[in-house]
Order: sequence, then structure tokens, then C-alpha cells
Amino acid sequence: MAPTKEQILDRLATVAAPDGRKVTESGALSEIVVSDGKVFFSLSVDAAAVKAWEPVRKQVEDAVKSVSGVVSAMVALTAERAGGQVGRAAPPPAAARAQGQGGHGHDHGQGRAPAGPSGVPGVKAIIAVASGKGGVGKSTTSINLALGLRDLGLKVGVLDADIYGPSLPKLLAIKEKPQTIGGTRLKPIERYGLTVMSIGFLIEEETPMIWRGPMVMSALTQMLREVAWGELDVMVVDMPPGTGDAQLTMAQQVPLAGAIIVSTPQDLALIDARRGIAMFQRVNVPILGVVENMSYFLCPSCGTRSDIFGHGGARKEAERLKVPFLGEVPLDMAIRETSDSGLPIVATQPDSAHAKAYRAIAENVRSALSGAGAARAAPKIVIEA
Ligand code: ADP
Repeated sequence: MAPTKEQILDRLATVAAPDGRKVTESGALSEIVVSDGKVFFSLSVDAAAVKAWEPVRKQVEDAVKSVSGVVSAMVALTAERAGGQVGRAAPPPAAARAQGQGGHGHDHGQGRAPAGPSGVPGVKAIIAVASGKGGVGKSTTSINLALGLRDLGLKVGVLDADIYGPSLPKLLAIKEKPQTIGGTRLKPIERYGLTVMSIGFLIEEETPMIWRGPMVMSALTQMLREVAWGELDVMVVDMPPGTGDAQLTMAQQVPLAGAIIVSTPQDLALIDARRGIAMFQRVNVPILGVVENMSYFLCPSCGTRSDIFGHGGARKEAERLKVPFLGEVPLDMAIRETSDSGLPIVATQPDSAHAKAYRAIAENVRSALSGAGAARAAPKIVIEA
């Protein structure tokens, strides 16, 4: 039996807000969305009260999960009334990141606990794959790069953080829903040896979702911390396209070991890529390098190569900006077809030239990662005497 809103509200009335009132009478509840047993809503509170509400958010979520018929619950804490949004209310400044995340984060004896985002237990390094704009092949690159890293013997996870347009369900032809473990954590899905998670596994493709800034962060945090990722050498995060506030907040909040920028070779795309690089640099995330996608076109019938978008632009740009160039991938029908039919080329045509190109990029990423210090994902905790 599908749960009703009334059943959920009844259960929520048993949870107390920080001021002792019932959550249902606190004025914080947004509209409750119930779809196929999946429940979503937010709690809007004053920025100053966010800390007090965080445990309540968890209680609310647990209460919703305990209603019979509820498959999953996602409750976001939003703070828009004063002091801005949750995601922005506590920017981890560059200094805090370095202190908490860097291989050099020794805190210089000041005894402060790290203030930056903390790592995901069991995950050695998290890397972001980003692009200045949509449609450049960021998701296709993410999945094939993840498979390339798998081929190097690494245990790899993929988190689809593009909650506005999740692509993993399509890229891997995944229709199943993640199971919960003990009612509190989600079990990620395994495909081609990768451990994967996407908000797209939880919502129907047709379900329109409106995400406000803080909800984005909350959903992302849940996907990082409330999913049983297990032991991973690398987690590849497929970021939403663009370099707006949402991306900046994510770049700040996710404990990234480094970022990869995907670009096509045209000037316009490169301007966007430059913005992407600047964004990560602003929050002290090392740029592992740039990938040029749709770099050139090899005619399948005559073998002639055409530099449709002006090959080499990304390499030159990387040189100019003094960031590594990780490799190039041609524009090719086989890549489009395999990507769009959920059969990524590195997994399904491992001996193809394209799969080799992705594996070469993966090798470069692995080297860049060891240079960047994968230890960034493991903050050093200093206990004050
Ligand atoms: P993004 O994540 O940047 O929006 P996608 O990975 O979804 O981009 O790719 C956009 C479209 O381009 C998809 O149809 C994909 O199959 C196709 N595509 C991506 N890379 C290539 C490539 N190298 N050759 C041919 N088609 C590609």
C-alpha cells in the first residue's frame, strides 16, 4: 500500500522541533511529495537554527521511513530566511580546506579540528568530472574514465551528482532501484565492476523535481554519506554542468582530491572550461587535468580525419593555464551509440581504439592523483590537549 501524506503527517507529529513544538506545528515543513513510496520534502528554518535542526532532520527522516509503504525518504534542511542558504552559510575557506584536507594539513600545532568537508569513510580519493557547459560529453567521459580506472585494477565508484539531469540510469541502462540496508543506508548498484549511485535511481524520469540550492547540497551529502559505498580507491563524481553557485558549493563541500575538466576544442567551450578551472582553483581543489572530447572525427568509411571543432584547442588551453592535459577522445558514432544505449565502450568494446584512449586518460589521471596527494580525502584530526 502506498503511503499517504496524512499517514506521514501523523507520524511527523510525533517528532519534536528544537523549540519543543511538534514538527508539524513548527511552520518549517514544505509541501510533502510522495511518489511510488518515495517521500521528499524540506524543512525551512532560520540560518541561525540550522545546527539545532540537523538532528531533528534525521529524526524526521527516520520517522518517515518507519511509515509502512515508504521505500525511501529524502528530507532536506533549508535555511533561506536569514543569512542565506545552508550550503553557503558555512563556506569552508581555503585555509580550512588545506588544514583539514591537504597532505600538508598538519594544523601547525594550533590544535583546531579541521573545518573543511570530511571524507567518506572507506573512500581513498574523490575526483570530480566537470564541464563549463552541458553536452560536451562529461558524463560519457566520467563513466568510461571510471571503467578505465577499473581496468588499472582500482576499485571504483561513480556518483552521479547531476541531480538536475542524472545520466547514470541511461549510461548504464539501470532500471532497478537501490535497496536499503537496515532501513537507514542505501545499497549502491554494481555494474561492470563499478559501484554506482544516482538520484536518478530513486526518482522516475518523468517526475519533475524542483531543487533549491540547499536541497541540492542535502541530497548530495546523503548520496555521499548515507550510501554504503564500501571500500573504494577512487570515487568519480559526475558533476552537474556549469560553474554556477550549485557547482561552487559542491566543489567546496565534497572532499575532492582533484578535478577533471572535459571540453570540446572550440573557443567557446574553452572559455567555459577556463571558468571551470578557475572555480576549482578558487576553492583549492587541484586540477588533475583537461580532457578534449570530440577532438576530431575519423570518417568510418574513408578513414579521413576531420578536425570538426578545431582539434588541439583544449591541449593548448591546458598548456596556457599550466594544468595537465590528460588526453583526447575523437567524435565517433560508436562512442555515441554505446553511451546512449547503456553499454559504455570501455566495458563492451575493450579492445577498440576508443577504449584504449580512455584507458590512457585513466592512467594519466592516476598519475596526476598520486601527484595531487590522494590523502586529501582523509582529514587529519587534531585533538586538543
Ligand atoms: P554531458 O554530460 O556533457 O551533457 P554527455 O556525456 O551526456 O554530455 O554527451 C552528450 C551526447 O554526446 C550524448 O549523446 C553522447 O553519447 C554524445 N557523445 C559524448 N562524447 C562523444 C564522442 N566522443 N563521440 C560521439 N558522441 C559523443
